[in-house]
Amino acid sequence: MSLLTLDAVILRSQYYRETSRIVTFYSREKGLVKGIAKGARGKKGRFSSTLEPMQRVRITLSIRENRDLQTVTEADLLHPYASIREDLFRSAYSQAMLELTGRLMWQEHSSGELYDLLLNILQAHEEGVGDPQLLNFVFQIHMAGLLGYALHTSECAGCAGSLDGGGKFSFPRGEACCGLCYPVEGAAVSVQGATVELINHLGRAEGVAAAVALTPSQAVRRETAVLLRRHLEYHTETDLNLRALRFAESLDDYNDEKLPSRSVKGVGK
Ligand SMILES: [Zn+2]
Repeated sequence: MSLLTLDAVILRSQYYRETSRIVTFYSREKGLVKGIAKGARGKKGRFSSTLEPMQRVRITLSIRENRDLQTVTEADLLHPYASIREDLFRSAYSQAMLELTGRLMWQEHSSGELYDLLLNILQAHEEGVGDPQLLNFVFQIHMAGLLGYALHTSECAGCAGSLDGGGKFSFPRGEACCGLCYPVEGAAVSVQGATVELINHLGRAEGVAAAVALTPSQAVRRETAVLLRRHLEYHTETDLNLRALRFAESLDDYNDEKLPSRSVKGVGK
């Protein structure tokens, strides 16, 4: 038995029996970790406010080899991200990001890069910066790259020509082809030029900043959402019809007048 201290974001926290909680963390050092926090229930319980989903914590675990569930011995709150919870859109998209991480990262080693991206996007939501759905796209595009399924959409994979007029995106190859270079073999989907352009912008390193500047149409948003989900599903063989994502995207079907809480601030305003 040994002690391990981790910097982590809480993906999920469920009550267990009378007094405990089972908590799923994504940590910088060890990737996904599941722990049991004993005596963590009730207002006066240990860890009473530290083990809520979406919070960033420093946890110490008592590790036993060959066990899936480790024991949480200490937990300090590093960042509560309290403002996210007050915004329906941002809260829904943050939950969707955490759910996606929990679903796809089990088989992977830890990724400091993914952890930093997770923190950057949570911080953008916390400050009310950037379009909530575009931030989610940024996360999915970069996650696909980190898992080894990067999207290549800056030019046609066949003739290196422009994709301004749209084309087809191949899931197996992660590449797009222009109308002249059809057909792409295997599973593919038609894409508009504007969707390709959006994915290019958001896939760059400064993707979080691009999520501030761009204002794509609803049609482009829908096409991008479907393409990214299908791309991740194709490569991970995982059903990504996630509850939080369904809810978040259903909110986007309302327009801004119906849901005035949708707030987007520019950088530095
Ligand atoms: Zn071409």
